[in-house]
Amino acid sequence: MNTTEGLAKISLVPGVFFNPKMKISRDITSLWISTLPKLNILVDGFCASGVRGIRYKLENKNVSHLIFFDRSKKAVLNTKKNLKLNNLVGTVFEGNSNKFFCNYQNFDFCEIDPFGSPAPFLDSLFWADYKQKTRFVSITATDSAVLCGAHKNACIKIYGAKPAHNFVCHEVGLRILLSFIAKVAAKYDWAIIPHLSFYSLHFFKVLLEIRKSATAAVSSVNQSNFFYIFCQNCFYQSKENIFSYSQSLCPICNNKLNYFGPIWAGELGQKKILQLMKKNYKKKSYLHSKEMEKFLEIYLQELGLPYFYYDIHKICSKYKLMPQPTSVLVEKLKENGFLASKTIFGPTCLRTNASIVQIVQTIKNL
Ligand SMILES: [Zn+2]
Repeated sequence: MNTTEGLAKISLVPGVFFNPKMKISRDITSLWISTLPKLNILVDGFCASGVRGIRYKLENKNVSHLIFFDRSKKAVLNTKKNLKLNNLVGTVFEGNSNKFFCNYQNFDFCEIDPFGSPAPFLDSLFWADYKQKTRFVSITATDSAVLCGAHKNACIKIYGAKPAHNFVCHEVGLRILLSFIAKVAAKYDWAIIPHLSFYSLHFFKVLLEIRKSATAAVSSVNQSNFFYIFCQNCFYQSKENIFSYSQSLCPICNNKLNYFGPIWAGELGQKKILQLMKKNYKKKSYLHSKEMEKFLEIYLQELGLPYFYYDIHKICSKYKLMPQPTSVLVEKLKENGFLASKTIFGPTCLRTNASIVQIVQTIKNL
């Protein structure tokens, strides 16, 4: 059976994984690649049908040579077939990621898209002694139940972090993943700079620039040692450095505070990259969809706003208030002089610098 996605034709073979719902992830990554400098060698790890690497090359002028690897023979054969179908050439290896990175260290971009957690594959990715001092990696985690707190012990085991299991668990999960990646990278003197990181449809995706620098690696890892602080009683939220955290009672209601993490406390993305993506998106009609437009628009609005979104429905249920549409509350908060925006993390969620007390008061006054 054949299908098309973006500019690629893809032959689908039984036994080789292809999830059409992950198109949005591939669309966003392909668009991100359009903002990067020349990529002489692009690696599609865990390639399955090869759809990602093939799309990235067909849709972007800055991609030169393609390398694929997968430990499944069927996937290797399927990728070779799909390269031919799209009149492309590429090198396809059969083997696992550790074996791959031991032998092929010279590349500019790498896609790590395994089944479940990427954690077991990161040491070899960052260990390799690359020639390039700046490169780009795209990492997917589909173990969202682990990162979002449904399996707390698994998160402690895999990521060394305590996950939150409340309305902000998706942002905390994303920040736990970034904290973990930054710490693995720092061991090998790599710093991470997130260009774009997000949660959607039960997967986490982080699109990173990585820089080889011992000094930058220290600041990168320093950004990764924060707790997410949450008051179950009044929904007060904050972040604190794990090495200086001493607060145990909520400053608003005096309830005992919960803390989660460690999390990444740096930016989730960069405005200039998003602006460039938005500009390039206009020229790429094959990427056009309401979903993509909404994603780019909301992400640009929320970047740079304070940490941790709030869920309006959860607040209204807790404080016995009538739920209000997100856009109405965002506008009202702005009218009252606060920063506020919708968030990609959920349609009933918003990001603001107003405190929980000020948000509740604003809803009451609506
Ligand atoms: Zn409280």
